Amino acid sequence: MNPAIQQKPSGNQVGAGEHRKRIAIFGSTGSIGTQALDVIEANSDKFVVTILTAHSNHQLLIEQALKFRPYAVVIVDETKYNATRQALSSAGIQVMAGEQALEDAAALDKYDMMLAAIVGFAGLKPTLKAIENGRSIALANKETLVVAGDIVMQRAVEKRTPVIPVDSEHSAIFQCLVGETRNRIEKIVLTASGGPFLGKKPNYLVNVKREHALQHPNWNMGAKISIDSATLMNKGLEMIEAKWLFNLKPEQIQVVIHPQSIIHSMVQFEDGSLKAQMGLPDMKLPIQYAMAFPQRIPNAFPRFDFSKSAQLSFEPPDIKTFRNLGIAMEALYKGGNLPAVLNAANEISVFGFLRNRIGFLDMTEVIERTMQKIPFIAKPTLEEYFESDAEARNFAASLLNL
Ligand code: NAD
Ligand code: MG
Repeated sequence: MNPAIQQKPSGNQVGAGEHRKRIAIFGSTGSIGTQALDVIEANSDKFVVTILTAHSNHQLLIEQALKFRPYAVVIVDETKYNATRQALSSAGIQVMAGEQALEDAAALDKYDMMLAAIVGFAGLKPTLKAIENGRSIALANKETLVVAGDIVMQRAVEKRTPVIPVDSEHSAIFQCLVGETRNRIEKIVLTASGGPFLGKKPNYLVNVKREHALQHPNWNMGAKISIDSATLMNKGLEMIEAKWLFNLKPEQIQVVIHPQSIIHSMVQFEDGSLKAQMGLPDMKLPIQYAMAFPQRIPNAFPRFDFSKSAQLSFEPPDIKTFRNLGIAMEALYKGGNLPAVLNAANEISVFGFLRNRIGFLDMTEVIERTMQKIPFIAKPTLEEYFESDAEARNFAASLLNL
């Protein structure tokens, strides 16, 4: 069982004034990272930022660091190292650079909780390092669990490290499970908005362009997850994420389209009772919940108003049209290294689509062909997960002539 769910409310974990929780934000310049900084700024009596990391947006990283005064920052793009160091060293902030620096920073004892908000496979190694380092994890980076969920959760259990979901659906399920540790889950229902192309058919999707696909109706997110939401791959990745977070069998995970994104997900128990967590779509809430868990802290976020919302509707997903969800379900059921292969091929095809190298529907072809090509491994080691990722990435890139 995820150690986080068993954690008893302690009362003084945050908020006692002198014991501020030290947060390391990996991926601080992204959509989740910047919203997390807003939450921290509004709760500076409870949280303090001690590490910030970014891939290449050093200007924003510098701005954030001068404002929040962390102990250290990491800029992955080494060509930005000198400019970052010049801007921050006089402020006494340590500047580290390069990919390895992410793991070095994760190994520091300067933080209590890592907010894992890097996008993609790149988030896996630093998150594993943080677990090894015994730090709690607020997990936004779903790809970490899609690629190597069994190993990540196993290590978290061994280290008694809580892994608290930030993804809104998983946060919803997590919230529904508080107080239910002895009660078996019959199934979970992950809600999906359906994305910008809900109700569309392949003859429409074939001509969809990047600008259109990036426009999500309910959420304002990074580019990769926005495309994943438009193809419904995001929901497939979330099914796999849920399997590992909550120790479920694939048959226990259902997806329902709920275009209003008010019910963030549901748990059905053995007596048939369904618990749902609801609210307006705003990632700051699950971010805040993960950082403050097991406490809830007051905020001024807009509230959902039943008298203003005409209706909440539900329908099954159209996996004939949105085939990425279908192939992700295949990876979920078959397991082994297939989710890692799916994830790598998806990252490459999203990259290709964002650069107008392939069309919207071609993404599925690239992923499917990669899943057929890479040899199946039923119970991979961590190294084999990394190898499968690399092989899948190379093969998918060759299909795109990248
Ligand atoms: P984003 O693209 O806005 O930000 C990504 C962050 O990761 C940036 O700080 C970037 O500098 C960093 N980064 C990118 N590539 C990197 C690399 N190779 N090495 C190191 N750092 C790198 O992404 P986002 O929308 O904030 O999403 C972050 C994660 O959270 C994703 O895994 C996503 O699936 C998940 N998530 C996001 C949302 C959302 O609303 N944005 C909701 C649920 C889950
Ligand atoms: Mg989600």
